[in-house]
Order: sequence, then C-alpha cells, then structure tokens
Amino acid sequence: MTTTSPLAVHGGTPVLDLPRPHYQWPAVTPDLEETVRRQLHRSLSDRDASGVIGEFESAFARFVGVPHAVSFASGTAAIHAMSRIAGLQPGDAILAPAYTFFATATPFAHDGIEVRFADADRYGNLTAATLTKKLTPSVRAVIVTHMWGNPCPMDEIVEFCRAHDLMLLEDCSHAHFATWRGQRVGTFGDMAVFSTNQKAITTGEGGVLVTNNDRYRELALLFGHYNKRCQQEIDPTAEYYPYAFTGMGLKHRITTLGAAIGVHQLDHAADIERRRRAILTRYAASLAANPVIEPAVVPETDGQHGLYVLGLRFNPTNASVTRDEFVALCHAEGAADVDAPGSTRDISSEPLFARRDPFAPWVPGTPPTADVPGVTAFADTFIKLPLWGYEGDEPLVAGYLDALVKVSAAVTR
Ligand SMILES: *Cc1c(COP(=O)(O)O)cnc(C)c1O
Repeated sequence: MTTTSPLAVHGGTPVLDLPRPHYQWPAVTPDLEETVRRQLHRSLSDRDASGVIGEFESAFARFVGVPHAVSFASGTAAIHAMSRIAGLQPGDAILAPAYTFFATATPFAHDGIEVRFADADRYGNLTAATLTKKLTPSVRAVIVTHMWGNPCPMDEIVEFCRAHDLMLLEDCSHAHFATWRGQRVGTFGDMAVFSTNQKAITTGEGGVLVTNNDRYRELALLFGHYNKRCQQEIDPTAEYYPYAFTGMGLKHRITTLGAAIGVHQLDHAADIERRRRAILTRYAASLAANPVIEPAVVPETDGQHGLYVLGLRFNPTNASVTRDEFVALCHAEGAADVDAPGSTRDISSEPLFARRDPFAPWVPGTPPTADVPGVTAFADTFIKLPLWGYEGDEPLVAGYLDALVKVSAAVTR
C-alpha cells in the first residue's frame, strides 16, 4: 500500500507504471484470433442468416432471454430501426434521457421526431417522476438508457407507459448484464437495443435489436437486411411483404467478422460476467467507507449492475479539491483511464434536436433550454473507470484501486 508516499504531483512515486493502453476490449487471446481466422476463410459477407449472422443472433437472443434478436452494423442503426418500427412520425414526440450518449436520441431527431428530454435521478437514470414532468399529448413513446450499467427503476416506468399508452423502448448499451428486480433489462418494453461497440459484449462495431414481437422482428429485417434475408424470413402473407426485395431502402448489416467475435464473446459471457462482477464487488467493498468517492451502484435489492464501467460518485464536501482536480491527481499516479466523461452529458440543447424537418438545410434551429438539475448534479460528480475482467488484469485492477485510495486519503478534509 502506498498511502504513506506523497502524491506524484508533489514528487512522490506514482502508484502505477504500466504501459498504455490500460484497457483493451476484447482481450485478443489466441482463441479469439483463431475464431476470426476461421471466419475469414468461411465467409466475409453473408446475405442471409444461415451462417455466422444467424449464430450470433440466436446466441444473443438466448443471452438476453428473448425470442428474437436482429443484428445491425451499429447500435445507432439499431436505434434508428426502433424509431421506424415504432411508427413515429413528424408531429409525434418521444421522451428520452437528457443525460445519455447522444445516439440514444439522435436517430429519432434524424427522422424529424420531437425529442423531449427528461431529468435524471442520482444514478443518472430516468424515473417515472422525471418522465411525468415532460409528458404532453404528442408523446407516443419513451426510450430509457440504463446509464453506466445501473438499471432504471423499470416497474414504475413500465407502469407509467401503460397508464399513458406509450411504447417503451430500452437502450441497453451500457447494461448487457443488468437486471431490475430479477428481470433482465431489454425485456421490459416493446423493443430494446444493445450496442456491441466497445461495450461489455462487443463485436467491434455492431448493435442488436431484441424483441418478443414477431412483427417488429420482421420490420427490423425490412429496415436493415433487404433482399435475400427478407424474402426468406418474412411472412409472405404480411402486408409489408411486397417490400421484401428492396427493404425500406437501407442496408445495415453487421460484418461476418464482427458476428464471429460476438459469438466468441457470448460463448465466454459467463466468464466475462464473473470476472467483471468480482472487480465491481472488490472496489465497492474497498471504497465503502471512503469519504471522497463511493461506487455509484444501485442496491442489490433493486438490481444487478450491467458491468459496462465502474462508476463513482465524487463527494466535493469532503474533499479539498474539485472532481476534475481529483481525476488529474489520479492520472499523475499513473491511473490514466480514470475519467470524467465528456461525450456522455446533457444532450438536450444540441441543435439537431431543434430540427423538425428531416429534409431541412443545415441551419441550426433554436435548441430548447435544458431544465435538468438532476443531470447537472449527477454529471458534475461522476467519475468512471474500466471494469477489466480478463487474464492478467490484476496489476491494473489493484493499481487503480491503490491510486484511488491514495489520492482520496490525500485530499480528504
Ligand atoms: C455506444 C452507445 C450507443 C451507440 O452505439 P454504437 O454501436 O456506437 O452506434 C447508443 N447508446 C448508448 C447509451 C451507447 O453507449
């Protein structure tokens, strides 16, 4: 333990001196290399689901516990599919989190849908109360993001959507392993999307739309998988079958190599979960009595964390430095991936969301003004770091924890 040594910024020895990058995901094991090599010789382009695309989708559906999973080139494309499948039109509105990665909401804005932004709770998440404040007669749907792995309070959100006859969509990109009161996230609403970009389950680039609704599954195929797949898999008696050849005009397939990486990841999902959850538990136990930082993790009686990143809440009243200074002190100790997130923030005043006409020129409208004190309180105190979870990660896991403990001790007042 190095808590007695002076801080690195004061000439002390940094806690960690490990080569960067400190987080690489997925871990490129010989096994993964062999998986990709095999797929390279098998097929680089699949027009239907008879090969690795179908294998990946079946494995993903089993992983979430849903009947249907449809793969896409990105989570963003899969969220765009939800916008079209939901049948939202200009004049309709959707309630979305003001605090999220912007791709939760931008595909709706692309289509000219009004996005109404709701405030966050102490986990950065929507609640029925924050949604209620933004409800208007034009609202047709809600999209939630389970931020940084913490599940939203889904029973009250499901009830809110039922009471107001709203479609419920979930962005589970941070929450591949999360449950709310025993139920897997991604199974509460009409459709859900899991980005498989650099997330807890990854395909490099990619995204998956899951649903238990047969019609939504077919419309998802129509949106991103035209021609052969649509003609093979869509019910020929469906009113939209005449579109099977052309789809709706777009193609959003995941690559076969990405799907092969995804199958490999899902084969190892239990191991990924076990390792990441062990790190989360270890940090939570070690930081439980820390006056400056506490893990931002929902109580186990409410749910299980989704294991994307480890989130911390900084307590400025007990510290002699600001949150950003705290992060800089951790960097000086060699813990370079301790991070105050930049691109995930209040997105409500982005000009894209003031744009109603999808064919309009690139002239920014007047963005709506944000009134989201919960978002400000959360975003101003949030810190994240990687959840590793692979062979050989112990020096990083232990080193980052030591750095956090050392810096906290030095700045506690
Ligand atoms: C990563 C992410 C997305 C976008 O997914 P891509 O696969 O990068 O297109 C959407 N929402 C959230 C919350 C994300 O973290």
